Amino acid sequence: MGWLNLAHFIDCSEAEGPGKRFVIWVQGCLMNCPKCCNQDMLPIKPANIMSTDEVIALINQAYKQHHIEGITLLGGEPFLQAKGLVIVAKACKDLGLSVMCFTGYTYESLLSTKTIDGAQELLAYIDVLVDGPFKENLPEDKRNWVGSTNQRFIYLSNCYNSSIEHQPTMTQEWRIDLNGSIKINGTPYLMHFTSENTP
Ligand code: SF4
Repeated sequence: MGWLNLAHFIDCSEAEGPGKRFVIWVQGCLMNCPKCCNQDMLPIKPANIMSTDEVIALINQAYKQHHIEGITLLGGEPFLQAKGLVIVAKACKDLGLSVMCFTGYTYESLLSTKTIDGAQELLAYIDVLVDGPFKENLPEDKRNWVGSTNQRFIYLSNCYNSSIEHQPTMTQEWRIDLNGSIKINGTPYLMHFTSENTP
């Protein structure tokens, strides 16, 4: 068993990759891309510490309840928690689920890194990697899910192909809980509102 430090998760989303997906936003990123839309997920600090067993149990439940086709990893920087995510990704593969991952690192740097523990191991479980930092001067308005045109979809298995980049998809989801708190996720952000600061 391993441990993960998560900013947030959603058990079933249709706005963070192809089909219905369990989505994991990890806490912490070292990139500091100007205008990153998930600023509260950048600090390296404890957020929601969960065991990999707990996360896998939630994914299992989402699989039974919502018939999800995969999981999406984003954040924050998933590769800073690669060792824990390897355990989760392996369990997903055992269930027949696909794994999509957004990273601020380039694929080439992850293939060659000797300093990010578990990076190559995690790559081995990923079906589609979206790589590269967000660049505010290169806004993307054609492809699904990405924020800037430098970011690449890299297909590491036969599970998906480039048709997903332009398929009709949900671009935003709004969730309102019983306390009136609103969470919006989708291209390319996750935001939290309360009833006091609803846009
Ligand atoms: S890599 Fe992603 S999460 Fe990290 S600062 Fe850049 S846009 Fe934000």
